[in-house]
Amino acid sequence: MQTVHDVAPLRAQVRAWRGRGETVGFVPTMGNLHQGHESLVRLALARADHVVVSVFVNPTQFGPSEDFSRYPRSLPADQALLSGVGCDLLFAPEVATMYPHGADHTAVVHVPDLTSVLEGEFRPGHFDGVATVVCKLLHMVHPDLAVFGQKDYQQLKVVEYLVRDLCLPVQIMAAPICRADDGLALSSRNQYLSATERARAPVVHETLLQMRDWLAAGHAPSVVERAATTRLRRAGLVPDYAVVRRASDLGVPEASERDGLVALIAAHLGQTRLIDNLTLG
Ligand code: AMP
Repeated sequence: MQTVHDVAPLRAQVRAWRGRGETVGFVPTMGNLHQGHESLVRLALARADHVVVSVFVNPTQFGPSEDFSRYPRSLPADQALLSGVGCDLLFAPEVATMYPHGADHTAVVHVPDLTSVLEGEFRPGHFDGVATVVCKLLHMVHPDLAVFGQKDYQQLKVVEYLVRDLCLPVQIMAAPICRADDGLALSSRNQYLSATERARAPVVHETLLQMRDWLAAGHAPSVVERAATTRLRRAGLVPDYAVVRRASDLGVPEASERDGLVALIAAHLGQTRLIDNLTLG
């Protein structure tokens, strides 16, 4: 596996592959890779002749009080994992490569509507950073397909929206959420959890399952949301939201709506913010 830090060798390699009629899959990440990322790479490898993975902790998607500086970085371990899986090329750019005018002076891609709710409400500006960096990476890599995890459900919807609206010539694929045996969705941020917090963290997934069952039993989404919020609080978490939304556009469903829904939770457990979701029906 090659590791490149600059755009020119990345483009040269992708151009060579595509020139031979070979397809290229792409998996953007912020590194500190785990089995969730690995499953995305495997999906890309199953669908494309070559796979490029990027590792870039993107400053523009972190708020001023968020964990950009302490976000775990582990490039040598990431390289070992990726070459073991069969990734062809790792793109690990510096901030100056991604943001030649500086991260505070970049042209911004803004996706409307979808980005003002849920994560967008609690992390203002987050999705401008995500949409901008994804757009830049897709232009740099020029893949045939790109894989995103359903773990970040709203992010996946934002990326689908932007690819469609800006007519980017890439197919977006969604990968299922990879979980620990006790149900906790794998995340680079899980390593912030203390042992006690880690033992309590599966309550997020348990609550999502409970939301599904409450809806199936006939309770209205608003009732389910209140009950889920209470359940999380009783377990010692501080929820930002625990909601039922339309899976297609994250709109608020009618009281009687049961098809094509998704339950989403964001909650603080100590210093760590956990997000998870479950598509229903
Ligand atoms: P990140 O490194 O957190 O930016 O994640 C990079 C990609 O991996 C995103 O598309 C995430 O949705 C995806 N991802 C992260 N954790 C998981 C997981 N547990 N299961 C599936 N995909 C994941």
